[in-house]
Amino acid sequence: MSSSATILVVEDEPRLLRLFDSILRTAHYRVLTATDGAQALEMVALESPNLILLDLLLPGDIDGFAVCRRVREFSDIPIIMVTARTQEADKLRGFELGADDYITKPFSAKELLARVQAVLRRSRDTPATPARFSIGHLVIDLAAHRVTRDGQEIHLTPTEFRLLLALARQRGRVIPHDQLLREVWGPEYHNEVEYLRTYVRYLRQKLEPDPAHPRYLLTEPGVGYLLAADPAEPGAS
Ligand code: CA
Repeated sequence: MSSSATILVVEDEPRLLRLFDSILRTAHYRVLTATDGAQALEMVALESPNLILLDLLLPGDIDGFAVCRRVREFSDIPIIMVTARTQEADKLRGFELGADDYITKPFSAKELLARVQAVLRRSRDTPATPARFSIGHLVIDLAAHRVTRDGQEIHLTPTEFRLLLALARQRGRVIPHDQLLREVWGPEYHNEVEYLRTYVRYLRQKLEPDPAHPRYLLTEPGVGYLLAADPAEPGAS
């Protein structure tokens, strides 16, 4: 795996980006690059990299911390933060958001490759969750927080999106009511099944071609809900 792994480098300084690129290519990794957070999330969705090298200070609305948080909502892709020596507090915050390791600028090629190899080795057995997938006419992009149906964007509230995310992470499997309530609303809500029913109804109204006969968001009576992995074609029931 080590020589064929795909690494996404997120870095806005052209000089550093070239340096990462050349070190990693020389070691026979496939390298993708992004220069801001939005581009990074797009690349994660399109390419499912095996590792992300993530500069924390990025231009635009989505900084490195936000990229880290978004990616961790749906995926365990290893993330190595790139920090300056003066950013000790940032390092801590990065770990809290789920980063796996960090590298401090300036770094040597040897040090970079050692960290990359170590993190890839640790993650080898973790199956990847695709950041973007389609179900019937829906395209769900977990990285960009975007859902489209036949190319039309569907606007979801934050709670609706969290519910969809909880179901999408284990697509095709029934998730019990209490687990969904804990994940979406918090541990103290684990008995509030009525909340869940209400939001399932909202989601179905937005996602399902015929909300009265759901094909995507299915009920397992008395147990929970599931997001279909392979929904029946319309009219096939
Ligand atoms: Ca930067």
